[in-house]
Amino acid sequence: MTVRNVESFIAGAWLAPDSSAREIRDAVTGSVMARAGRSSVDASALIDHATGVGAPALQAMTFHDRARMLKALALYLQERKEVLYDLSFSTGATQKDHLIDVDGGIGTMLVIASKGRREMPDGHVYVDGGVEQLSRSGSFVGQHVCTPLQGVAVHINAFNFPVWGMLEKLAPTLLAGMPAIVKPATTTCYVTEACVRMLVESGILPDGALQLVTGGLGDLLDHLGPQDVVSFTGSAETAFGLRSAPNLLRNSVRFVAEQDSLNASILGPDAVAGTPEFDLFVTEVHREMTTKAGQKCTAIRRIIAPQAQVDAVLAAVSDRLRETVIGDPRDPATRMGPLVSDAQRRDVLDKCATLATEAERVFGDPDTFDVHGADARNGAFLLPMLYHCADPDAARHVHETEAFGPVATVMGYRDLSHAIALVNRGLGSLVASVITHDPDVAREMVMGAGACHGRLYFNNRDSMAEATGHGSPLPHMVHGGPGRAGGGEELGGVRGVLHYMQRTAVQGSPNILSAVTGQWVPGATTRQGPAHPFRRNFDDVQIGETLHTAEREVTLEDIEHFADFTGDTFYAHMDDDAAKRNPFFPGRVAHGYLLLSFAAGLFVDPDEGPVLANTGLDSLRFQKPVSAGDRIKVQLTVRQKTRRTESYGEVRWHVILRNQDDAPVAEYELLTMNAYADPR
Ligand code: NDP
Repeated sequence: MTVRNVESFIAGAWLAPDSSAREIRDAVTGSVMARAGRSSVDASALIDHATGVGAPALQAMTFHDRARMLKALALYLQERKEVLYDLSFSTGATQKDHLIDVDGGIGTMLVIASKGRREMPDGHVYVDGGVEQLSRSGSFVGQHVCTPLQGVAVHINAFNFPVWGMLEKLAPTLLAGMPAIVKPATTTCYVTEACVRMLVESGILPDGALQLVTGGLGDLLDHLGPQDVVSFTGSAETAFGLRSAPNLLRNSVRFVAEQDSLNASILGPDAVAGTPEFDLFVTEVHREMTTKAGQKCTAIRRIIAPQAQVDAVLAAVSDRLRETVIGDPRDPATRMGPLVSDAQRRDVLDKCATLATEAERVFGDPDTFDVHGADARNGAFLLPMLYHCADPDAARHVHETEAFGPVATVMGYRDLSHAIALVNRGLGSLVASVITHDPDVAREMVMGAGACHGRLYFNNRDSMAEATGHGSPLPHMVHGGPGRAGGGEELGGVRGVLHYMQRTAVQGSPNILSAVTGQWVPGATTRQGPAHPFRRNFDDVQIGETLHTAEREVTLEDIEHFADFTGDTFYAHMDDDAAKRNPFFPGRVAHGYLLLSFAAGLFVDPDEGPVLANTGLDSLRFQKPVSAGDRIKVQLTVRQKTRRTESYGEVRWHVILRNQDDAPVAEYELLTMNAYADPR
């Protein structure tokens, strides 16, 4: 077998390992299959290339440009994923495991790309929240905005997900506009290196946006400054050592950590043996123990069941584990491959010895088992092991010792508050699942255990056909957890992007804020266009361009006609005495929807033109009742423009209806799709 030289990609050059390189063994055969690492890493070259070349190129692009880039990169990897599958077998991963790591990584990148297009502007500044009124007349206002950090993001990844682990951090980082230096765990870095080669060779990424350091990081962390970020996944011990480095503390370098976690799954009090929930629970526990041979940050380590169900759970989970085919991950019959390395296997066995001081092993003898299609003596194979802890209140290790392999401990609870107390003994976890069909159990669990968990996953007969699984972090939802789990947070849609940006409170006049955000802010200067704004295509109509309509009187006949026509004969519109008894109304008033309809009648230009469709209305507020005899008029202002497709973009209009006294009666944002001047 040829030994693969795993290279680093630094300042635009691929650098081979040198004589100090570490050897990497195949998880299945135990033979040396790769080597990685160099005696010195040029930290200045890495940082200068990232900040001097990568950052300016990325930050010249808009969020939408970067989102399109991420999508193109994901599709490029999609075409070549077989290469990554093939290499990943040597890490012990099965074909099913590849779907989580390789396809999961690509899917995450696609979701982040899509969120970038839909939820971020086609500009350079991300606006976080609404405009804050800071003065009586509105001449001084505030707005939170986010801009990319000006340094580099250093990603230190764990061995268990060489592709997903990189892409789930890389996608939000690049979308934010920050360059990244990726340092994969050495044991599986050959898979990450292959993936980085694809990303670089695609030609889609700007130079300097992505660099790779395989093997040790050298003294890179000592060179980081206040604009840099370290994002870490791995053990609590390493995280503690790295985050307390004096240079990082001195410079307040952001340190996002995702580390060991004693995740639990709780069988609800209602989910007794014989219910669909009980079977679902056993399926989820078995899947979490055996997928990636239990080497998942979210895997279930503690199985918490009602005391009366403990024996049934032990028997059912043991039966499922007994049927599990363990062997060569390349063999399609294999359900679970080996651990990543013999060192990892020994580490798990050490942790099991600790667990055994408080819990009895009821399934799995590490010394006696056969593996399918491979030599058990050479690979890092380990049979799943199930423990039972009879006194979880007195125990400590079962709540604190993470055996990072196919190992879990069953423990019983007396009532729900006891279950909550036990699950919280993990001192902060990435996820807990609760299998229950009882909404009250779910509510109590969220109130009691939410603060100790980054994610709570509820599943039952209603959701099980479509539920995504206890162990799957989703790009839309936050991944991370308090305390023991590291105190960090990743993903969660745009939230994950903001970890690589600085949020700044900007205060000033409406004109200043409009200039900063590229959006019209109420109170900022308006301008009249050369024609009705509905006659103007997407490119021509300008931010701040405004139409003031004529007035229209609202009559009693209008109100009655609208009531008859729509069937909305609510008393406030039809019965003067009843309306007067209501503290909101002076008497009969016009329907809010009638006002919206009249507003449209006042501001639309009816002829066929560049406005293609009205796609919605946001933030509608009715501020003052309109009575028969009042007159209303509309101010329509272009607030924001966003390119959406090849042929049209979205225009967000600020609409305000005022009465004859100039008092606002209704305000909202209208969304239209407008054709470009020159659709491609
Ligand atoms: P480690 O914490 O040892 O390593 C994680 C990453 O940190 C690797 O890339 C590693 O590189 C790097 N690293 C280690 N020391 C340093 C250092 N001094 N400076 C810079 N980088 C460093 O975790 P492992 O991946 O080896 O796994 C060990 C244990 O961590 C597991 O048994 C498990 O308990 C836990 N773990 C938890 C995960 C989670 O998500 N909750 C995921 C994976 C592991 P290198 O490989 O080169 O040493």
